[in-house]
Amino acid sequence: MSVAPGTDGVLVDRYGRVARDLRVSLTDKCNLRCTYCMPAEGLPWLAGPEVLTDEEVVRLVRVAVERLGVTEVRFTGGEPLIRPGLLGIVTAVAALEPRPRISLTTNGIGLDRLAPALREAGLDRVNVSLDTLDPARFTTLTRRPRLDAVLAGLAGAAAAGLSPVKINSVLMRGVNEDEAPALLRFAVDHDYQLRIIEQMPLDAQHGWDRHTMVTAEEILTSLRTVFDLSPDPAERGAAPAETWLVDGGPARVGVIASVTRPFCGDCDRTRLTADGQVRACLFATEESDLRAALRAGTDDDELARRWRTAMWGKRAGHGIDDPTFLQPTRPMSAIGG
Ligand code: SF4
Repeated sequence: MSVAPGTDGVLVDRYGRVARDLRVSLTDKCNLRCTYCMPAEGLPWLAGPEVLTDEEVVRLVRVAVERLGVTEVRFTGGEPLIRPGLLGIVTAVAALEPRPRISLTTNGIGLDRLAPALREAGLDRVNVSLDTLDPARFTTLTRRPRLDAVLAGLAGAAAAGLSPVKINSVLMRGVNEDEAPALLRFAVDHDYQLRIIEQMPLDAQHGWDRHTMVTAEEILTSLRTVFDLSPDPAERGAAPAETWLVDGGPARVGVIASVTRPFCGDCDRTRLTADGQVRACLFATEESDLRAALRAGTDDDELARRWRTAMWGKRAGHGIDDPTFLQPTRPMSAIGG
């Protein structure tokens, strides 16, 4: 059992896990309406004053990097590309010492236009969400006819030198589960790294059903109908994805099996929402408010202490299999990947 958080040191929890990977949701808004994420009409968005300003985001990330041992910063949303101050935030975070690795999770719309400037600002790598290569199915799944823009975003990211360029795909039974091999073929042919994610109970509609979820086992079986998958010798560490070599490599494919093969024991993630709340876990039902403290003039030491305390109480795992499991009230679109 680790020692309770003191006035200095890293973000350790009571199970001894150390959080080094900070996920920052920059907005709860999005320009798509994915059926497994939110209703067609969208959601009641955070009001402007509730959302951290660019300066407040940078200050909290600076506290995390300089005082709490964070080495990875991932910007998410909603859709982070629609945040007007994104470039300035990336530039400021890239100037921090020690410099964290900076990544982005995006739906890719507009990435073709923004990738060169983001790369220049300090962005290192990107994950683009793409669940289908079929234009009609894309429009059904996202309620927007924007597949071309996403494909252009992927190509733009690679052309700008972001690396790796990863694709995040969610498969749903009776919707797009037949596309696993085609998505992998596409990724291998374009030198993107595919990550197939088990659908998680984080949708705003609370409609998740374990039985319609496509499991890691089913995903691998489907991929193996076309590809030879062999264990990846590379160290996994705290990475969410379990990876395999495709046809002997060097191409790899990953499966993020949060539900059927949870990896909480090695979790190194901490999260900051767009309205300044710390979430110790994707499935946390409690949050710690740093925004109020920030706006009340609290100093960096105290902000760091509060962040440590928030992480100390992190639960052992997501508890999805517990009969007492409660889906968080905050939807995925306001937590970020
Ligand atoms: S569910 Fe929570 S504890 Fe488990 S890996 Fe994800 S963030 Fe970490």
